[in-house]
Amino acid sequence: MTKISLKIYPDRVLRKKSTNVESINDSILSLIHKMEEIMNQNKGIGLAAPQVGINQRLFITKDFSNDNNDNILVFINPEIIEEDKEVESKEGCLSIPGHYDYIKRKNNIFVSYTDLEGAEKSEEFNDMQSIVYQHELDHLDGILFPDRLPKIRKDIFFKKIDKEFKSK
Ligand SMILES: [Zn+2]
Repeated sequence: MTKISLKIYPDRVLRKKSTNVESINDSILSLIHKMEEIMNQNKGIGLAAPQVGINQRLFITKDFSNDNNDNILVFINPEIIEEDKEVESKEGCLSIPGHYDYIKRKNNIFVSYTDLEGAEKSEEFNDMQSIVYQHELDHLDGILFPDRLPKIRKDIFFKKIDKEFKSK
């Protein structure tokens, strides 16, 4: 099995489209456990499977409805059904450490996903929970947050990160 570890830009795994999780078996559960460890070690607020080298449609986030944010939410085969109200906020990514920029997202989303027990869920998310969900969902389609910048800012951002990460 692939070694589960945090993948940093420009790792190609970050650009691949992920495939649906077919069944929630032991290897998926241990993947989720490992992702939780990696997210906490790196003080992240969300982590998608491709970021640890696995192109499967699942991600985890902190639970922003919980005051101390200790809880972790797991989203398997996640989708967005409806979205509303544009909002801009500063984003970063564990796979592009040290770089941040302002990205436009939707403040309110209505989503569907499969939970850890295999149940189909639909739910509304707002604010930070909504933004993190959209950021992580993008990872499952090989999209990184700077891809969402307007052309000129996007070119500048990629020039910067290419200089830092591709020369290594
Ligand atoms: Zn990210």
